[in-house]
Amino acid sequence: MIDPIRFIEDKRDGREHGPDELRDFVKAYQHGNIPDYQASAWLMAAFLRGLSEKELETFTLALAKSGSMVEFPQALECVDKHSTGGVGDKTSLVLVPLVASCGAPVAKLSGRGLGFTGGTVDKLESIEGFRAHLTMAEFVSQVERIGCAISGHSEELAPAEKRFYELRDVTGTIPSVPLIASSILSKKLAGGSRSFVFDVKTGSGAFMQTLDESRTLARQLVTLSSALGRKSMALITGMDQPLGRWVGNAAEIREAIMVLKGSGPRDTRDLCLSLGGAMIFLAGRVPSPKEGETLCAEAIRSGKALERFRMLLEFQGAEPGCIDFPEDKLPLSPERTVVRSKSSGKIASFETNSIGTALRHLGGGRQRKEDAIDHGVAVEVMAKIGEEIAQGDPVFTLYHSGNGAETATRLLEEAFTVSLEAASPRIVLEVVE
Ligand code: URA
Repeated sequence: MIDPIRFIEDKRDGREHGPDELRDFVKAYQHGNIPDYQASAWLMAAFLRGLSEKELETFTLALAKSGSMVEFPQALECVDKHSTGGVGDKTSLVLVPLVASCGAPVAKLSGRGLGFTGGTVDKLESIEGFRAHLTMAEFVSQVERIGCAISGHSEELAPAEKRFYELRDVTGTIPSVPLIASSILSKKLAGGSRSFVFDVKTGSGAFMQTLDESRTLARQLVTLSSALGRKSMALITGMDQPLGRWVGNAAEIREAIMVLKGSGPRDTRDLCLSLGGAMIFLAGRVPSPKEGETLCAEAIRSGKALERFRMLLEFQGAEPGCIDFPEDKLPLSPERTVVRSKSSGKIASFETNSIGTALRHLGGGRQRKEDAIDHGVAVEVMAKIGEEIAQGDPVFTLYHSGNGAETATRLLEEAFTVSLEAASPRIVLEVVE
């Protein structure tokens, strides 16, 4: 039996834990044999002292193995992607069918929104009938049959990670690179995929706001994956403005459908091609990510990717009419409020997390865990960084039903700056292999 006081003192004083005691600690906390106050003390010590590579591997595996592990047949080498979360990030909705249509099986486990960022599961629940929570058996069987599935993270997977995450959330220990990497990777390992592409966002709408922090996390994710026998790549991508033109649940499904149809905003399309190319490369289908991108572009052009999306919706119980009639099947809230620019010039910057927060005030995200989501509310971004606007031109249009509109409007009025010169930012800033 582990001695929790000595264990905390070891980390406090910078001594390395042995694998067995670290595994015992995870198990003991998971089963309530170590109280929150001692686990919190250890988390803070780990936050300040860090974890060695060996400790990190052991800790991550212990979290991953704390519940069920999804197992795919040997021949089915699935690839998954993970985004560290952004505003308007609808790439998973495009990538899952797109990459599957290029022959690489995708088993995507998704979370609900966190803070100012939206979650893929919440977005998919805008589609009538969509079953966003599959059993693990259904998840595996669907990937076997149609090459892809998207499911909300099951409570059975990595339950110890959930306990630690909830404790970190209230003890100031979230922003630690090793703790974030172990949290992300333990859930991915439990999900059964063999390779991972990480989309590490950087900028005002990201969890990691500076390029240096994002680079450190990206490197840690790739190093840890490799130590645990998984192939991976990380793309550091810009989140200084929302991705695409729409932020909101139904609205983002509409925009993802546009990309799958071959239109949609340039940044979203380019990012999907880069991430998709990397996924197909890691799945061993092409000799380089660039060739993966070409394959993705062709799957969009030929309609194969869109057809796979239709199949995905049908298999998960949804009515695929939203693909052909998105305005009717994915309605937006009826009231409109426009936020206009008070000066002329070019959009220079956004306070991107305020845009996510504004959506939450309208009801598009949760203030509390148990809140219901209003799928129809949205923020349309009418001008992006580097684009010209005149005084009085619209910068945002809010689609809402009255609730929270005043607060959201006030936030958005302060959420952008205009200057004489500003260039449109790149979407992929760095690649870590
Ligand atoms: N996202 C996660 O899944 N875990 C963290 O620790 C932080 C962000």
